[in-house]
Parts: sequence; structure tokens; C-alpha cells
Amino acid sequence: MNVTVIGAGYVGLVTGVCLSDVGFNVTILENDTRKLDMLNNGESPIYEPGIKELMERNVGHERLCFTNNIGKATTDANFIFIAVGTPENEDGSADLTYVKEVSNSLGKILTNNCIVVVKSTVPVGSCDIVESIIFEELNSRNLNISVDIVSNPEFLKEGSAISDFLKPDRIVVGVNSDRSIKEIRKLYAPFIRDDPGKLLFMKRKSSEMTKYASNSMLATRITFMNELSQLCDVVGADINEIRIGMGKDSRIGKSFLFAGPGYGGSCFPKDVKALMRTGRENNVPMELVNATERANFKQIDYAFNKVYSFYKNDLANKKIAIWGLSFKPGTDDIREAPSLKISKKLLDHGASLKVHDPKAMNNFKKNLSDYENEIKYLDEAYDALNDCDALILLTEWKEYQKPNWNKVSKLLKNKVVFDFRNQYSNEELPKLGYFYFGIGLGTTETGEISDKLINPMSSKNNSLPIS
Ligand code: NAD
Repeated sequence: MNVTVIGAGYVGLVTGVCLSDVGFNVTILENDTRKLDMLNNGESPIYEPGIKELMERNVGHERLCFTNNIGKATTDANFIFIAVGTPENEDGSADLTYVKEVSNSLGKILTNNCIVVVKSTVPVGSCDIVESIIFEELNSRNLNISVDIVSNPEFLKEGSAISDFLKPDRIVVGVNSDRSIKEIRKLYAPFIRDDPGKLLFMKRKSSEMTKYASNSMLATRITFMNELSQLCDVVGADINEIRIGMGKDSRIGKSFLFAGPGYGGSCFPKDVKALMRTGRENNVPMELVNATERANFKQIDYAFNKVYSFYKNDLANKKIAIWGLSFKPGTDDIREAPSLKISKKLLDHGASLKVHDPKAMNNFKKNLSDYENEIKYLDEAYDALNDCDALILLTEWKEYQKPNWNKVSKLLKNKVVFDFRNQYSNEELPKLGYFYFGIGLGTTETGEISDKLINPMSSKNNSLPIS
């Protein structure tokens, strides 16, 4: 079968590459010339573990190719995936411009029966819009072909996208025809051999909503723990111990319970906002989802304030090292990453930054180009520490997990660590003379602690350097 994927981003490229790997003939349509050139030169425009190897293999087997010619891409296609971006509008709604443009082009160009699969995350009712745009164009051409529109939201996680796609927990498909069910079964058969029950058919509107419901639920879980972490800091409880205590409850489960500097990424912030917007438009105020968004903003401020209050609200001339910029490990994606907001706050308050990330520095640089002189980008993680007043860990990449603390202390001007992913030991670091601040580990720091910077261990109260 021939498959066309429109959009070679994090979702489209992974979708196309994985479908070609199980034997389909896949053409990926990408209209960004820079990305297309990279793809045609065997380079992936995104960082995703394993993608380059799969691209090479399937291009080599002539099952995968890239183009910007929609006619060439769609001739003889049995399935056409729409995987273009749906960023947020200023009012929080999902911007369907790219989806509508693609639908319009398809209506103008299609000549054969096919199934159009909407993989982009789109608000409930959007497949109806795609359908009416395509059909209007087909009708104006007096073309009587059978085109079914199917909703098939994507649940892959950046950083493990290939294995998520090849071994999905579930595949959600919203359909309105029996023909689509039959064809989609054939398409996804190679991915559900272990359990055919993973392929879930439902109404198109339910499928569209399932994506927003899943992301908003996950964002709410994280936010619940983040809010609790603030209370833990005040009352002296430890969010990590609580996480383990909660996670062992089979009704709750252990994932998405990690406190941190607030959720970010290309999906949660915009999908939460889009669901709030859909609620407002339908006079159903989504109180909990609204609260999740508000609490997430507060958490980002909470993390920043740990640094700010430590320095008694004066960051002028402070040099801060940051490890980790991507919104999560395993990706170069920095869209809505907490690192952007926290860095801007530090810079706007007079600090300068030395930053390191294994994959996301270029994307970060593009976003913070206004601060060119205040940010130094280092290729080696330890080099970012040199002569800095403190280290902030923002993304828990593997390579930051077990630093050589002796080396760190030789490089940092002061032994101060803000660990916003709770990766390090709040027992070990104070023993090594560090001021150590996690998120929700049970102590509230005050500006007075920074007065003891000269020799932290001379303090009689050894618990002081922990937060
Ligand atoms: P992206 O911005 O990385 O990729 C979109 C690609 O589409 C870009 O390369 C863009 O140039 C291309 N494009 C836009 N218009 C085009 C056109 N007319 N013809 C050809 N190419 C075109 O976006 P993404 O992160 O892959 O997300 C795509 C969709 O999937 C979004 O709706 C998103 O919400 C959803 N989603 C993303 C993720 C994720 O982890 N990134 C996960 C699940 C769902």
C-alpha cells in the first residue's frame, strides 16, 4: 500500500519512517526547503533517537522518499496522513491554518479513492471541517471519488517516539465508515500483532477529544504533584517519598508523578489551553483544566523564586550555569520548555548564563537571540560551570545524572546547586559542602542562607544547605 505523510516534523517523520519500516511505500511531503534538503541528504531535521538509522535503511530499500510536490506525493496514495503543526492562537485555541491549507490542496489535487488520516492534534469537530473543505473542492471539480476522513491522534513521546510508534499502548481511530475500519485494520496490523485489542475504533469526535483528554489529564497529574511539592517544602515532607508511597497504589500508578519546574513541551501547554477554549466555546467551563494551567505558571515562578530568594532578590552580576534546556531528555525540542521562561527571568533580573544541553542548544539559541551577549553556549557540560555562582539542573539528561562533585566544586565559584528535577541526593550534597535545593524536598530556603556561602559547613545546623 502507498502512504503519504504531509509534514516531516516530530510526528510526521516518525510516522512515515515507521510505516516504511514495516513495508509500506511512503512518501513524505515537506514544504520547508531547509528540512527537505536535509532529508534528501540523509539528515534528520529533528533529533530523535534511532530515526536516522531507520531513515537510511528505508530510503536504501526504496520504500521511503521525500518531496515538496503534492501531486507527486499523493498520486496512487491509499492513505494520506495530515501531520502538520497545530500551534496555539493568541486566544488559546488551536490554529488550524496548516490543516485547512492542506485540506484545500488535497481537494484540488486528489484523483483517486483514498483515506485521509488526521494525525495532527485538532479540536473536536475538526475532521468535519477537513471533510467539508475537501468535499467542496472535489464537488467543484465534479469528481466522484470516495475519500474518507479518519481521526487518528498520535500519542508518541519525543525521546522514545520510534518505539512508541512501533509498539503502541493503543491506537485510537475515529471513523464514520465501515470501509475505513477495514482499511485501517490492514494499515495497523503490523503494529498490533501482540494484541489486536489495542486498535480502538470510535466516533471521530471521541477520538479527537481522547487526545486532549489524555494530555490534560497528564498535565494535571504533574501539576498536582508540583503544587504538593510547594506544600512539602513548607511542612517538611519529601515529595519523592510521597511519590513512591502514592505510586505503589495500583489505582494511581507510578508514572507522571515527578515534581519539577512545571510542565512544558510542544503538546501539554497548547493542548491544555485548547481544551479550555473548547470548554469556553461550549459554555462548559473546564474548572480543573483552567486551574492546572494557572498552577503550572505558578510552578515555573516557584522554581525561579528559589534562585531569586536565595540571592535576596538580587541577581545582578550573578553567573548561573544551566544543565539541560530541552523540555525533556531525549529531544532537541524546546517549545514551551521551562528553561526558556526561567532563563528569561534570570536574564531580565541581571544574571548572565552559561548553558549546556546535549541536543537542544541550537533551538534554544534561536529562541533567545535577543540575549546573545548574556548567554554562553558550551559544548562540554563541565565547561558551563566555570566561575559560576550556582548550577541549575533543568532537564534530567542521563549525562547529568552522576556528576563528579569534586570536579564540580573546583569549577563553580560557590557550591550551590538548584536541582529542579530532584536528581541528586539531598543527603550527599550537603555533606560535600553544597547548598542544595530540590523541589519539594522539605525545607524552605531563605536569603539568610546565602550569607553562609563562604563556608557552608561551618554552619552548626547541617540541615541548612538542603531545601
Ligand atoms: P512540527 O512543527 O515539528 O512539524 C510539522 C511539519 O509540517 C513542519 O515540518 C512543517 O514545515 C510541515 N508543514 C506545514 N505545512 C505543510 C504543508 N502544507 N505541506 C507540507 N508540510 C507542511 O510539529 P509536530 O511536533 O510534528 O506536531 C504535528 C502535530 O502532531 C501537531 O498537531 C501536534 O500537536 C501533534 N503531536 C505532536 C507530538 C509531539 O511530541 N511533537 C505528539 C503528539 C501529537
